[in-house]
Amino acid sequence: MSENINNLPLLRATGLKRYFDVSKPLLNRLLEGKPRMILKAVSGVDFEIIKGETYALVGESGCGKSTVANLVVGLHAPTQGKIEFDGIDMTAATNPAEIKRLRRRIAMIFQDPYASLNPRWRVEAIVSEPIRAFGLIKGARAISERTGHLLTQVGLSGADGEKYPHEFSGGQRQRISIARALASEPDFIVCDEPTSALDVSVQAQILNLMKGLQNTLDLTYLFISHDLAVVRHMAHRIGVMYLGRLCETGPADAIFSNPVHPYTRLMLETIPDIEMTGKHRKPMAGEIPNPIDPPPGCAFHPRCPLAEDLCRREPPHLQEKNENHRVACHVTGKK
Ligand code: SF4
Repeated sequence: MSENINNLPLLRATGLKRYFDVSKPLLNRLLEGKPRMILKAVSGVDFEIIKGETYALVGESGCGKSTVANLVVGLHAPTQGKIEFDGIDMTAATNPAEIKRLRRRIAMIFQDPYASLNPRWRVEAIVSEPIRAFGLIKGARAISERTGHLLTQVGLSGADGEKYPHEFSGGQRQRISIARALASEPDFIVCDEPTSALDVSVQAQILNLMKGLQNTLDLTYLFISHDLAVVRHMAHRIGVMYLGRLCETGPADAIFSNPVHPYTRLMLETIPDIEMTGKHRKPMAGEIPNPIDPPPGCAFHPRCPLAEDLCRREPPHLQEKNENHRVACHVTGKK
């Protein structure tokens, strides 16, 4: 899995935070005597993504992984922290031409191939929009040829460009989304749960397509997923998120063979049958705490079977457990 990796970070996130003010309007708060409410979706995350690799962020719904995806593609601005792409601080870039150059190099594939394609546009218009927006190719015929090539590259035919999204299955629509993502000739693609809306048999086809394209086009992926079976198939390295923070990060092989953080261990125990053994797995105990009012200390302590007094008082920080494998846990994270 590591043959494409040349150890240069293409993307680096440092101290990344994103808070959302979810308070009621001021008048309501004054009348009801309620304080402001701040949702800390991402509360200080650091990671690097090496050129040519797939880095997966995993965690339950609401852990902040999709907010990280949106921060990387610029759909949200960070509350604090920075994101560097190829050595350029994207969060400080103000020159419109430079922002456009950076944006061309970063594409996104969304979760829902039904909602992410404009139903009133022909596929050719959908796929070629980034080509036109970034002025990559001039002339209708050349753009049409390029669009046909992109459709072929994702396993569709050039003639499919004439059709509308509703004429395709879910898997085919996700292929159209991938063709559109490739249209700007990106080096980096943020894949936000790209197969979770698809049947399992179709998921495998799309994941294999994405792996093939990564090799052919030397792409780097940030892969967001709640599904560890999918992540195992795709990722070189993994970051496990819990309530807005990374609790474990390292090579995929190490995390699957020797998970260290209690949350990662529970996730691996409770995923539906990753080894295809047919065994029933017990669901993970407890609910994810409310991120507006997270527990003190380690946010996982109300669900953690190993929690101690210290866990209830002090948040643990990521520390090196093994080479390139970092864990935030007072009990299991020590060397
Ligand atoms: Fe569990 Fe404590 Fe580790 Fe948190 S720091 S995961 S509560 S043992």
